[in-house]
Amino acid sequence: MAKSPRNSTNFLPYGRQWIDEDDISAVAEVLRSDFLTTGPKVSEFENSIKETLGVEHVIACSSGTAALHCALLALGIGEGDAVIVPSVTFVATANAVRMCGAEVIFADVDVNSGLMEVPHFNEALKRSKGNVRAVIPVHLTGQCANMAEIKELADKANVKIISDACHALGAEYQNQLGSGAVGDCQFEEMSCFSFHPVKTIAMGEGGAIATNNDEYARLLRSFISHGAWQQGEEIVNEDLAFDSEGKINPWYHEFHRLGWNYRASDIHCALGLSQMNKLSAFVEKRRALADRYKENIAEIDGFVKAIDENKNCLSAWHLFPLLINFDEVKMDKAMLMHHLKDRGVGTQVHYIPVHLQPFYKDENQGLDFFGAETYYKKTLSFPLYPHMELEDVDYVVTNLKSLLS
Ligand SMILES: *Cc1c(COP(=O)(O)O)cnc(C)c1O
Repeated sequence: MAKSPRNSTNFLPYGRQWIDEDDISAVAEVLRSDFLTTGPKVSEFENSIKETLGVEHVIACSSGTAALHCALLALGIGEGDAVIVPSVTFVATANAVRMCGAEVIFADVDVNSGLMEVPHFNEALKRSKGNVRAVIPVHLTGQCANMAEIKELADKANVKIISDACHALGAEYQNQLGSGAVGDCQFEEMSCFSFHPVKTIAMGEGGAIATNNDEYARLLRSFISHGAWQQGEEIVNEDLAFDSEGKINPWYHEFHRLGWNYRASDIHCALGLSQMNKLSAFVEKRRALADRYKENIAEIDGFVKAIDENKNCLSAWHLFPLLINFDEVKMDKAMLMHHLKDRGVGTQVHYIPVHLQPFYKDENQGLDFFGAETYYKKTLSFPLYPHMELEDVDYVVTNLKSLLS
């Protein structure tokens, strides 16, 4: 049973989107409408995320990377500033800092969760030259670090928090962190999301920034749209802007700052909105699959274990990594990935620590991150996406067991 051959139609990738006919109709409807971009679907999509997170403002944008870039810009991060980023993350978290002309200071992470906790944050602060203005906790795999402690240290050090919640749409605080959605801006100035197809909901490409701060929201809307004047800002060139009766000229546009075209189109937002209706079902299924994995691997205790979970956070399980002690099993990671692939099981490594990437060699002047490097050596992400069945998990674990023992 366990070794039933799998092919391209029942191959289990490590993650994938779930698009239904109603998602397709939602997109087709926009294509037949008057607006392909910046139409009604953008604000409907933004409102849907706003409700889910319970925040004042959500700004949809073209990607998670754009979200991070704009959030840093809204804090005024630029040359001469430094931002702390955990080394175990997607490279875009660090790149966004460099896009602002600021310096990246990498932090180590917990060896069993991959999360930057307070000691790692504190060590990075101490290593800095005192110019740290922000820190970006990454809610790796869909859970968060202890955000209350991170906020306490950040406040003490006069450092602002932007959370990279690209993995964490649908995650919730519990126990000591109370209630609320992860990314609800009770601990951070802004939280950033991605809707790349492999994330919790799919937009094709897309992202969003959440905040409770009116000023940040105004700046964010300007940055995603060429630096354009926003409602609430003063008009500078009054001569050009107003007619003799003091009415604004119908053609008038004013640009107040350097901006980008990071807008999300109506086409993408229609898909995102349709997917938002399924968010809780998606997350529920992800949690059920993760539970099934945890039950199944309990038997191969010793050399395979699940990541440590923060009991104050109910994860959205964007990824399901297992930590495998490759020193004690009979094959290395590459060989295991090849064999699993032959049996129809896709896996991936999240992530190669960013401080080891050639582009960041200047930032890595002899960094010795035991947590990040050990987590990287052990971790392998296994298939997890809502369309999977619980029996698929059994199939994966049975094969993993037979390959390793
Ligand atoms: C996906 C991802 C991003 C970037 O999002 P895009 O939408 O692909 O630009 C940033 N950080 C993390 C942790 C991610 O997983």
